[in-house]
Amino acid sequence: MLVLKDVYAFSGKDMRIFVTGGAGFIGSAVVRQLLSTTAHTVINIDSLTYAGNLESLPEASGSHRYHFEKVDICDQDAIEQLFVKYKPTSVMHLAAESHVDRSIDSPGDCLKANIMGTYSLLECARGYYGALTGPRRHHFRFHHISTDEVYGDLGPMADACTENTPYAPSSPYSASKASSNHLVTAWGRTYGLPVIITNCSNNYGPCQFPEKLIPHIIISALQGLALPLYGSGTQIRDWIYVEDHAKALLRVLAEGSVGEIYNIGGHNEKKNIDVVEAICEILDELVPQKSRAVARYRDLITYVEDRPGHDCRYAINAGKIECDLGWRPVESFESGLYKTVRWYLDNRLWWENVLSGAYQLERIGDKL
Ligand code: NAD
Repeated sequence: MLVLKDVYAFSGKDMRIFVTGGAGFIGSAVVRQLLSTTAHTVINIDSLTYAGNLESLPEASGSHRYHFEKVDICDQDAIEQLFVKYKPTSVMHLAAESHVDRSIDSPGDCLKANIMGTYSLLECARGYYGALTGPRRHHFRFHHISTDEVYGDLGPMADACTENTPYAPSSPYSASKASSNHLVTAWGRTYGLPVIITNCSNNYGPCQFPEKLIPHIIISALQGLALPLYGSGTQIRDWIYVEDHAKALLRVLAEGSVGEIYNIGGHNEKKNIDVVEAICEILDELVPQKSRAVARYRDLITYVEDRPGHDCRYAINAGKIECDLGWRPVESFESGLYKTVRWYLDNRLWWENVLSGAYQLERIGDKL
């Protein structure tokens, strides 16, 4: 667990942090860490799309330091009212349409949430920040959480991307995130809003929606279903355990310099096929298949037609955050993946409710 003084080096008391997308995978990890490692108040702003799941935050509902607001970030009037109501000391902006395949199938939803949603939030933050004075103005930050996918596809031997690598997004998702990064930078430069951007590699860990590679493979394997791999399965991604990412975000919010970009990565470049095989090995150990048609989980691997425009490799250089802010990931890929598989085994109800749609039927958050 992070020590409080490590997380918040600055002296601001009565911190009230807006976390947009706090019912999502990474946002819920950020909310859990803010509640468990700081004394601050968290306002989770989430419209609860299909990816929002308040069952990822069971401990939050009992905390007097937690508030949930079911609001779409594109609704500027509603967001403005939240700034008036809570007077936040910082904003951590994670809300987004985050799935590449969905962004290819229906780009409009992705562009609206990721570009116009960020614009609307920036405008509200600009109006609010303009009226702040004294320490509140001094400490206010707009922290935009983004992705290494903005840097686009890398050749096998290319250097990992630094904060100065030009953007070259390939998919509607990565293009929308690159656009949102540009907007945030522009609001910093033009209007003086104290912005910070972080670009992180692929996350994995508890509470990730089953459409993403690692939970999809774990859950499909447990159900004895085919384990689909795009193309030849040789695409390379850098993987980071979500709790390490959340710790990095809290560190950046506390100690990062205004106007800077920080790359965050896990030092774990892996081919998709190697990720899938590693999951199969852990499952072979934890849940051996005694009575199934196939002897080992890897026999369920099935190659499927590749995603259009699929990037071959992402790689991120996280040297700056490690050097300037002293953050490093704690989990190795092996330890993080083991914990993740264990989590899905121990929390069947969470993902069964997602698969059945039950998590959307009773929106417990509406009552919080
Ligand atoms: P997610 O899809 O799991 O969660 C997104 C959350 O945002 C959901 O709770 C959803 O309900 C909410 N949301 C979506 N549109 C909204 C809107 N218009 N108004 C309010 N709420 C809205 O996503 P995630 O994987 O947790 O990613 C969070 C952020 O981190 C995103 O900005 C993503 O681009 C970035 N990121 C993700 C990864 C990754 O590997 N998952 C890596 C790097 C960066």
